[in-house]
Amino acid sequence: MVYPVMSRRAGGLSIGVNLNLGQECNWACVYCEVEGLVRGAPGPVDLARLEHELDAVLTEASSGRWSTGTTGEGPRAEIKDISIAGDGEPTLSPQFDGAVDICARLRQQHGLEGSARLVVITNGSRLHVPEVEAGVRRLGEAGGSLWFKLDGGTPAAREEVNAVAIPDERVEANLVLATAACETWVQCMVLSIDGQGPTEYELDRRVRLLERACEAGARPAGVVIYGLARPSQQPGAHRLSPLAGDRLKAIAARFEGLHLPLQVVE
Ligand code: SF4
Repeated sequence: MVYPVMSRRAGGLSIGVNLNLGQECNWACVYCEVEGLVRGAPGPVDLARLEHELDAVLTEASSGRWSTGTTGEGPRAEIKDISIAGDGEPTLSPQFDGAVDICARLRQQHGLEGSARLVVITNGSRLHVPEVEAGVRRLGEAGGSLWFKLDGGTPAAREEVNAVAIPDERVEANLVLATAACETWVQCMVLSIDGQGPTEYELDRRVRLLERACEAGARPAGVVIYGLARPSQQPGAHRLSPLAGDRLKAIAARFEGLHLPLQVVE
């Protein structure tokens, strides 16, 4: 349920919390790295066990258990974040808000508030569910942040990448809810499928969707354009290839009109 990992997103050691022990998700992204992904929702997790495991891993990590040297003798790796992510969509868990509360409390108890971020990686599809919104609000109160997926500018584009044709209006409304509750970064995957990168039309629609969300009151902390870095574990993996770094930067430039902080992660 709790695992240490060297993370590209975190820029170092991340302590992951996995609430999806059966690899359940309500999406099936073509680039998903989860082996054995299944469509569905996870059952309950034992919150007392989660608290015990996280406490033990934070204690070990703080004591230098995971050093940066290959021999184990290098300087101890600093914990960059505690992230609720794991093998599926975490907001599907019936204990999502309880898990956020445990992570926030233990980060404070271990004196990590100033050095380790608290992060939830979500597809953003369930912010309108009151229990999920409550968990995100708890995350915001603890100074944490949310990573919210936007992988296509139209329902058809999202169907192709995420295997869900979630309507624009739902994405916009959920982004408004997310940013009102918590610092929220919009995470935009861009990749090539069958040799074809995102079209000009799709990218325009993605920017326009974000503009409409901002007009409706959304206040994202920024937009992250990121490319395919690790192999997909899904049946369509052979259709995918990463875009060149120059192409990622050119795509990011299209989002400049939003006047939001922009990051590119190759
Ligand atoms: S939302 Fe996340 S866990 Fe779910 S299919 Fe997409 S990448 Fe995988």
